[in-house]
Amino acid sequence: MRNVTVLAGGVGGARFTRGLLAHLAAAAPDAAVTVIVNTGDDMWLDGLRICPDLDTVMYTLGGGINEEQGWGRPEETQRASSEIAAYGRGWSWFTLGDLDLATHIVRTDLLRNGSTLSEATAFLCRRWQPGVQLLPMTDQPVETHVCLAENVDEHAAGDYIHFEEWWVRYRARVAVTGFEQRGLADAVAAPGVREAIRTADLIVLPPSNPVVSIGTILAVPGVRDALRSTTARVVGVSPIIGDAAVRGMADACLRTIGVETSALAVGLHYGSRNRGGLLDAWLVDETDAAALPALAAAGIRSAAAPLWMRGLTATTAMAAAVLAL
Ligand code: GDP
Ligand code: CA
Repeated sequence: MRNVTVLAGGVGGARFTRGLLAHLAAAAPDAAVTVIVNTGDDMWLDGLRICPDLDTVMYTLGGGINEEQGWGRPEETQRASSEIAAYGRGWSWFTLGDLDLATHIVRTDLLRNGSTLSEATAFLCRRWQPGVQLLPMTDQPVETHVCLAENVDEHAAGDYIHFEEWWVRYRARVAVTGFEQRGLADAVAAPGVREAIRTADLIVLPPSNPVVSIGTILAVPGVRDALRSTTARVVGVSPIIGDAAVRGMADACLRTIGVETSALAVGLHYGSRNRGGLLDAWLVDETDAAALPALAAAGIRSAAAPLWMRGLTATTAMAAAVLAL
């Protein structure tokens, strides 16, 4: 095992990758890991470019994450955010911690001076040393918006709002009719992305949101084709245990695109690579072992293992199960 490529969102992708690195350190010390990260959650806020998923992966792997939250920095204060709010600016429901703000300021400065997002990310990683090659899915700005199905606050049914507003302000409890990835049609995969898929020995779809994290990466022109044609094995890990998204509200996203919230349904949604889909294999939680025959019938090799990411020991064992599969 030399090259492993992971397609990741934020918290789920980051926690799994931390276990993957721990497992590889013992099992395949020469292996190199590339993480291709969703940038559809990115946004402008108070003049700063915020990249929630890139930062979550970078902080988690670099030892700078707030473990309880799963995002942002530990021992944060919000003094700058309060000052911005005092001007009536910013989004009151999206707090930017003072330490985290420094990352956004540096990134925005780099972007304004002509760096691409890939270059800015590489620069930030020089400090954090995440132990992987961290690649944004694209250097072009892509932003996921949701179409509201009902009126809420100042928004009317039919309006589009940024995904992060729906997710953080409304906890995904307001019904939406669909997702729109603005900028996607004009986007191209960032440098190294298609190559990391083509030259990998193993590609992992970690337990990230299948719709707005992995689904968005797959929608970048060329990425799905690269996955379909790579000689690497493509193995996915279910983000659903039982009939629930483990943390967060992935069920609201799945419902919106008409996919049931179950490990089986998500596996079938990705589909078997032999039959026009993406997966060679799919790992489900041990409590979802009943799905194995149906997955086999759909041409997807599968196995069951404990998939609760309770800590490094658990995620290391999950990564071992992925490699065994
Ligand atoms: P986000 O961008 O921060 O929302 O993070 P991701 O898209 O990478 O992952 C979020 C998804 O990970 C959640 O919606 C859950 O379905 C899944 N998830 C979170 N914790 C766990 C866990 O402990 N085990 C498994 N199997 N999935 C999890
Ligand atoms: Ca995200």
